[in-house]
Amino acid sequence: MDYAIATLGSHSALQILKGAKDEGFKTIAVCRSDHSFVYRHFGVADEIIEIPSYREFYRVEDDLVRWNAILIPHASLIAYVDLKVIENMKVLYYGNRKILSWESDREKQRIWLEKAGLNLPRVYSDPSEIDRLVIVKFQGAKGGQGYFLARNEEDFNRKIGSAENYTIQEYVVGIPVYIHYFYSVMRDELELMGFDRRYESNVDAIGRIPAEMQHDLKVTYTIVGNFPIVLRESLLPEVFRMGRRVVEASREICSPGIYGPFCLETVVTPDLKFYVFEISARIVAGTNVFMESSPYAWIKHGKPMSTGRRIALEIREAIEQDRLKEILG
Ligand code: ATP
Repeated sequence: MDYAIATLGSHSALQILKGAKDEGFKTIAVCRSDHSFVYRHFGVADEIIEIPSYREFYRVEDDLVRWNAILIPHASLIAYVDLKVIENMKVLYYGNRKILSWESDREKQRIWLEKAGLNLPRVYSDPSEIDRLVIVKFQGAKGGQGYFLARNEEDFNRKIGSAENYTIQEYVVGIPVYIHYFYSVMRDELELMGFDRRYESNVDAIGRIPAEMQHDLKVTYTIVGNFPIVLRESLLPEVFRMGRRVVEASREICSPGIYGPFCLETVVTPDLKFYVFEISARIVAGTNVFMESSPYAWIKHGKPMSTGRRIALEIREAIEQDRLKEILG
């Protein structure tokens, strides 16, 4: 039986579809009508299914089933399509669907990361406890929009306004490093796919204006793009150790655990400690900087290997070994 690979036309779809084509799959992009020309332009999709808005995603179920499509999730699918719709669709789905609830709930995420024994920034349950620089995050915020820093309770009260559903987290001063992993069920191995950092507006613009003019600026963290990073090689052992512990802990909390691509979002301090402030349990947009390959994936596979292509390779090996069930959630 022939399979197709499908995804929603946004986020990392170009990478996913190109990777799937490279591994010999038929590809399908489900696109908002006003975005479909991009996927046509790049020629990565054999079929383009247009929907007027993401809310209409459920309508494509029959088409995807007919084409025997395996749906690859990414952040836009999770953000724009109701979790219930995704969970109830009869479409083949790559990954452990149950892990999504562990990712989307900050409390559950923390339990998972603590179980994995990682360094986490302190979380404050009440503004009166703030005793150092903190970052205030909002539930469901997309890409860091509206986050702010506060020095103490008074500062917090001044900035919070009427906002609700926030998390107060210790602000770790260091450099952000987003670690891209891939856990292969077929090969029973954790692979390192690369590292990126984000380019955020307006926080990354602060250095472009003189210090005396920075005071009035309201800093925020709206993601606009990403840069590739190559890490000090001596940090790689810890990178692998953290990734392995996350996979092991995930098996305890949500069997069969996490597999495929995932990302640890970290800040590295001057004493070279990784503080993990978030986990993404699927492909992250930062992998787009390695659409051809990261140096690490290239060394490992001996040929260009993006995360999108790695997903397709895993699916191809599963089909060839008649083990597809093991990687569909
Ligand atoms: P996404 O869910 O898309 O990953 P987000 O909206 O949750 O993004 P974050 O990535 O959590 O946003 O954070 C936005 C910015 O704040 C990033 O630049 C990140 O490096 C920085 N940041 C987040 N938490 C901390 C922290 N505890 N200490 C220092 N910087 C942080």
